[in-house]
Amino acid sequence: MSRRDEVAAGLDRVRARIAAACAAAGRSADEVRLVVVTKYFPASDVRLLAELGVTDVGENRHQEAEAKAAECADVPVRWHFIGGLQSNKAAAVARYADAVHSLDRAKLVARLDAGAESRPRPVDVLLQVSLDPPGREGRAGVDPADVADLADRVAAAPHLRLRGLMAVAPLGEDPAAAFERLAAIRADFLADHPDAGWLSAGMSGDLEQAITAGATHVRVGTAVLGSRPAVQ
Ligand SMILES: *Cc1c(COP(=O)(O)O)cnc(C)c1O
Repeated sequence: MSRRDEVAAGLDRVRARIAAACAAAGRSADEVRLVVVTKYFPASDVRLLAELGVTDVGENRHQEAEAKAAECADVPVRWHFIGGLQSNKAAAVARYADAVHSLDRAKLVARLDAGAESRPRPVDVLLQVSLDPPGREGRAGVDPADVADLADRVAAAPHLRLRGLMAVAPLGEDPAAAFERLAAIRADFLADHPDAGWLSAGMSGDLEQAITAGATHVRVGTAVLGSRPAVQ
């Protein structure tokens, strides 16, 4: 099987899963955008994906993402940065990322905004919300209690556009329960920011539960591209 056939088959399976989950949730399949997570995979896969109709790709490590985006400058895809953001890299990320899903602290706002200034359009920003219990080791994301304040700061940044929320289901918990909490957090958030309706949730293993809970963007890697190389 060629790499192209392999990727095309993975895409078909994931698109069918999205369509089935949308149908089960009484939603239209065009409400959910597939962001294919290309981390650890080569730029040639990004080209293949674009040829197969993928419009959005996601990366989680700055150096790799920056190099791949440069290598794919002629490929018509939107780049989503979905990984942990270091404050000293935030401005650089905003130069190639069309959307940043992982803004989780106030310190990043001015830095992202400064990096976004050189772009023709604002950078789309989602706040990463933690669904982990407070104090959990390696917890990423803003505490739900601090979402409103962070949202106001992003909304006030001239070169950023507040688009919505993002979350990852905690390990060891039923993702449906975690995404239900996310939906409640989102309802409060939308009362203040009704135009920020994006919800980035769901990965290879839990995209159905995320779509049930209202996800508008699913971030899927292995189910499309296969298992990632262990190290790079
Ligand atoms: C790697 C990654 C994904 C994709 O995970 P898969 O299980 O391969 O689909 C989604 N979201 C984030 C934040 C990731 O880092």
